[in-house]
Amino acid sequence: MDHPARVVAYPAMSLRDVVKTYAAGAEPVRALDGVTLDILPGEYVAIMGPSGSGKSTLMHLIGCLDVPTSGTYSLEGREVAAMSDFQLAEIRNRRIGFVFQTFNLLPRTDVLHNVELPLLYAGVPKARRRARAEAALAAVGLADRMRHRPNQLSGGQRQRAAIARALVIDPSIILADEPTGNLDTRSGDDIMAVFDELNAAGQTIVLVTHEEYIARHAGRTIRLRDGLVESDTTVAAPRRRTAILPPPVSAQPSPPKGLARHAVGLGETLGIAFRAIRANRARGALTTLGIIIGIVAVVLTMTAVNGLQNRFRESFSAVGTDVVYVSRMPWIVMNDFFAFRNRPNIDLREAGALEERLRGKALVNPSLDTRRDLKYRAETMEGVTVIGTTDKQTRLSSAQPQTGRFLLSFDVAFKKNVCVVGSDVRDGLFGTADPINKIIRIGPAAFRVIGIMEKQGGSFLGGPNFDRQVYIPITSFVKVFGGHRGRSDVNIAVKAPTQEALADLEFEVIGEMRKIRMLRPSAPDNFSINKLDTLVGTFGNVMGIVLLVGLLVTGISLFVGAIGVMNIMFVSVTERTREIGIRKAIGATRRSILLQFLLESSAICLLGGVTGIALAAILTAVLNATLMPASISPVIVLLAVVVSITVGVLAGIVPAYRGARLDPIESLRYE
Ligand code: ADP
Ligand code: MG
Repeated sequence: MDHPARVVAYPAMSLRDVVKTYAAGAEPVRALDGVTLDILPGEYVAIMGPSGSGKSTLMHLIGCLDVPTSGTYSLEGREVAAMSDFQLAEIRNRRIGFVFQTFNLLPRTDVLHNVELPLLYAGVPKARRRARAEAALAAVGLADRMRHRPNQLSGGQRQRAAIARALVIDPSIILADEPTGNLDTRSGDDIMAVFDELNAAGQTIVLVTHEEYIARHAGRTIRLRDGLVESDTTVAAPRRRTAILPPPVSAQPSPPKGLARHAVGLGETLGIAFRAIRANRARGALTTLGIIIGIVAVVLTMTAVNGLQNRFRESFSAVGTDVVYVSRMPWIVMNDFFAFRNRPNIDLREAGALEERLRGKALVNPSLDTRRDLKYRAETMEGVTVIGTTDKQTRLSSAQPQTGRFLLSFDVAFKKNVCVVGSDVRDGLFGTADPINKIIRIGPAAFRVIGIMEKQGGSFLGGPNFDRQVYIPITSFVKVFGGHRGRSDVNIAVKAPTQEALADLEFEVIGEMRKIRMLRPSAPDNFSINKLDTLVGTFGNVMGIVLLVGLLVTGISLFVGAIGVMNIMFVSVTERTREIGIRKAIGATRRSILLQFLLESSAICLLGGVTGIALAAILTAVLNATLMPASISPVIVLLAVVVSITVGVLAGIVPAYRGARLDPIESLRYE
């Protein structure tokens, strides 16, 4: 494929009175003391001079890794001094290929990825990136070494890889600072052969060397001394440009901009992040401990609260959601216990009166209860709750008989000695045998079992156990246990026709009870109204405390974890200062460096988060097997993931920003 020769309208590079001073020690060093020169497209330039004469400084300026203190430098007609960091990064990426004496390949990735890197920063999609990098490596004779890591290659091979990286994006100019300085003569000759070939194809090349025989490859030699051009001799004309690689990416239609450009390399950047974490596994594991604990705490708290709530709902389903209960004592007594003790019992006459007054508006069911021992043959159950009630009981809530039948009005009218037992009672007295029609003793009397209730979920947090109950007709209750007239303590259940009617009904019940009891307007109620909401409210307070403690633990752990991750990220940025320098030299913008480190800290935290979720899942399974039904909901997992990524971003932002701000030259010099 032929590539059209470029029209040469201006020098590739143009320096006018360029001065560079370094403020080192007491007296500033004038590394360049007014350099003026032009380099034309297709030229092959060797820069020579004694050590300290300013060769590297000049190369860094030409390569846009540094800016002059005074004077002007234009690259392809554009003045560099006015450019933003972003524009400079773009130039380093697309217009300039830098080859260093010490190769500066990234040690942790293979040669192919190293060569792809400038294309990654240019936002070139993966397939094209791969193809171009392979072409560049083939052009320097490394087609069979692409999957090697730099430390698996000889010095000469490493330098050829570095040249491939420099030319992969088809730059205007390749700059090489003593490219053969670290190589033996033979490898040096190999490298020079590559440069010669590139220049023969029209590539502009500027290289620094100490060796005359190396300099003889070039068509022009510039000698520096004490920051000044001492001599400048041209022996060969610039080459006309022909194709070295397929058409350059810069000539292809509009490369992606902004975020789209970062998105192209996201997978790759993530890969880099995970490789960096893997390289420091032990350290990473330690730092994520705080995150792990935090995530375990948050997941367990949410799961426990969720499980307890479900458990609560389950075990109190027998109460009924649209029922108010009138009783002497409130269900939950927080204080003033003695004030309630003087209240008169509610008796059956009052229950009958209330039923009369609410006829047609609500279902009213009185009940009495006591604790008695149950006996069946040799089996005994002590202290079982015996409830005297009516056939209306099953209309109050979802609690229904599982086998047999419930009490009928017939049983109540004729004071039958029949009973319906809870599931725990069945298990306790009968084991696996069929209880129906068996005769059990309840206290002094014998009762025939006619039905078994569905399981309600057992006792919850020391509350009542609705499965350890026996229902008998209320009339039989009075007959056997007494409790007629004032000695009994009746509970009256009042069920509203609809859930919405409950509030009004409650109000009405209070009013009617006061009338029945003939209370003066100034007298306080001498009875209590209870409903499921009362329990839910109290339970909610308890859950609130559990949640608060859990979130506090979470917060502290995550904070400690975040500090740890931040610390590690600072270390990581410092350790990889040189890497940052390399990346910047080949075109990484501040934003891409920032993104890279943010991704890394997020990835660390995400690893911690995932570990935490896994641990919490195990603990939840244990919880499920012992204390309560518990399962981790997907929402909680999602929450944990979001939380850990957020912590990662927050912990990484300052270190990442520091890394992004690093000066490329300072970073490259960092040991
Ligand atoms: P060369 O590459 O020709 O050996 P350099 O361009 O590296 O020379 O350095 C030129 C002069 O500038 C030297 O005297 C060196 O000490 C000084 N110099 C280079 N970089 C720095 C720096 N970052 N801070 C202070 N002085 C520097
Ligand atoms: Mg030098």
